[in-house]
Amino acid sequence: MSYPAVVERLEKSCCDANRAPAEVTLVAVTKNHSAAEIEALIAQGQKTFGENRIQEAAAKWGPLREKHPDIRLHFIGHLQTNKAKDAVALFDVIETVDSERLAAALAAEMKKQGKKLPCFIQVNTGEEEQKGGVRPAEAEALHDFCKGDAGLDIRGLMCIPPENDIPDLHFALLHKLSRQLGLQDLSMGMSADFDRAIAFGATHVRVGTALFE
Ligand SMILES: *Cc1c(COP(=O)(O)O)cnc(C)c1O
Repeated sequence: MSYPAVVERLEKSCCDANRAPAEVTLVAVTKNHSAAEIEALIAQGQKTFGENRIQEAAAKWGPLREKHPDIRLHFIGHLQTNKAKDAVALFDVIETVDSERLAAALAAEMKKQGKKLPCFIQVNTGEEEQKGGVRPAEAEALHDFCKGDAGLDIRGLMCIPPENDIPDLHFALLHKLSRQLGLQDLSMGMSADFDRAIAFGATHVRVGTALFE
């Protein structure tokens, strides 16, 4: 699948779900892909990108961002507290807030750097041991901490469903949680299942593999 094919599939999914394509942001995930490959996507009109590792992102995006100041960069990986400073310096959106400790570190860094980045809370909808994200039952408490004590600008929720599960239940759960918390944005859906995510209300789909196949 190429970039135009992904855009077409996204538009068709929106149409099938009775939604306007403008409601869904394609986050092009470019981990493990070179600056030249990223340039090719930018040349085709892509403006929102996602990376999951700070070091890799800093090396590639430092120069790219100088050339393309209108790009928006989302951090979608596991974030260690000691990398909060670099994440706040490089990214426009943090999608993976999953603990009070991280929320507090991000808030302190944003204050220092004079920024207020939109954030998502990552929810571990499959309650997998090895996966980042707060447990669904603890999402509300973390949300309240982020908004209250930390003063973060929480826009929505993000999830990565377990690999071998049917994703629909996870998308439905994330949608339900976001309604309970009064949040607008939902980052869910990847190459294999972003059509389903759009049917369940995704506002951001994170697509990597399909863009480069
Ligand atoms: C790599 C990655 C994606 C993209 O997955 P594909 O299956 O390559 O589309 C989406 N979200 C996160 C958090 C990722 O790490």
